Amino acid sequence: MPSPAQQTPVSPPPTFSSSESFARELDAADPLARFRERFHIPQHAGHPAIYLAGNSLGLQPKAAREIIDQELRDWADLAVEAHFKARRPWFPYHEQLRTPGARLVGALPHEVVFMNGLTVNLHLLMVSFFRPTAERHQIVIEDHAFPSDTYAVSTQLAWHGFDAAAGMLLLRPRPGENLLRTEDIEALLDREKRRIALALLPGVTFLTGQVLDIPRITRFARERNIIIGWDLAHAAGNIELKLHDWDVDFAAWCSYKYLNSGPGAVAGCFIHERWARDPKLPRFGGWWGNEPATRFQMHVEREFKPVPTADAWQLSNPPVLAMAPLIASLALFDEATMPALRAKSEQLTGYLQHLLDELKSDRYEVITPRDPTARGCQLSIKIRDDAKKLLHQLTEAGITCDFREPNIIRAAPTPLYNTFSDAWRFADALK
Ligand SMILES: *Cc1c(COP(=O)(O)O)cnc(C)c1O
Repeated sequence: MPSPAQQTPVSPPPTFSSSESFARELDAADPLARFRERFHIPQHAGHPAIYLAGNSLGLQPKAAREIIDQELRDWADLAVEAHFKARRPWFPYHEQLRTPGARLVGALPHEVVFMNGLTVNLHLLMVSFFRPTAERHQIVIEDHAFPSDTYAVSTQLAWHGFDAAAGMLLLRPRPGENLLRTEDIEALLDREKRRIALALLPGVTFLTGQVLDIPRITRFARERNIIIGWDLAHAAGNIELKLHDWDVDFAAWCSYKYLNSGPGAVAGCFIHERWARDPKLPRFGGWWGNEPATRFQMHVEREFKPVPTADAWQLSNPPVLAMAPLIASLALFDEATMPALRAKSEQLTGYLQHLLDELKSDRYEVITPRDPTARGCQLSIKIRDDAKKLLHQLTEAGITCDFREPNIIRAAPTPLYNTFSDAWRFADALK
């Protein structure tokens, strides 16, 4: 696993050439190139757009439509009978996502559940895992966390009667630096261990694309009896994860970014089996978290009996139409496999970094780690002069990236559907 860029030597100079024909050679040699055809690529002026915003909203897998259509047909033809007689029965609909979801994040199948949106899940998980006391109630979170996470954490603190601002311990880079250092995270956890009730950290930071050292930080926190949860919104489908072996307490991620499952897609959760099996852990209950055997015995059973798996955090019956694209998407990840995707990703992002280096421009600075193991498939580019104008010019050229105020362009060449030619044309447009 990675350590931050500051601690590791910069990777050896890649042997990339800067010509367009070289980009085409890399595409021709790419063993995953065939996956691009499995997606709808947005068009710009009659040509495929250069889509580098998969960290914001992933593209549509072509297979998604057929699965949604099937559910619509089963609803039309079978109605309530579809709970058990549909081609993919609705009663256990979420269960078919367990195993591919577990492969994606390195978990055991019963440690994974797909439900709700990410922020909803963070709240539901904090109901179980943020159990503050007067002495011990602080939450460690990144200063530049995705705003929804900050809102979730601050309102949890307030709901428990604590001062939200005082209750958050904010992690930030050292003055003049852009990245977090593992030793600084550890120093904070160690210094405040008696006051920290929870650490909620990003697997990959959304602003800089830095990969945090999940196993090392998890071990450090757990040795100090600190509950640690990971927000994997920018990590799931981007980097290789081994949540079970790393002994992570819990994790949550959304499915509409690198997982390409559509706007507002159903999100994922990981709860380590040492917690998932404990029926006494406090949680909010609903019928879909109950033992499936007694789930439909509505008037007979009054007592909530949580199933001893991550499913116990589910409240409502699964949103079948919204879940259908996840089936298509996770099948693509299973087919391509994360190790192969990660290998291409390191090469593709490394190639884009090389092309940006070659421009030798002082108008921008890449603030993502240079060490390939300390970043995912995103380069965050800090623009010195008019960033919005540049973004507009890129859009005019058929290039879609993501912009964060005040001056950061985030470009994410994803290994499933982006090409080396995409990277080349982005760098060419920047020039
Ligand atoms: C995208 C993102 C969210 C938003 O997820 P919702 O499913 O809309 O709640 C929350 N946190 C992080 C870190 C994200 O990247």
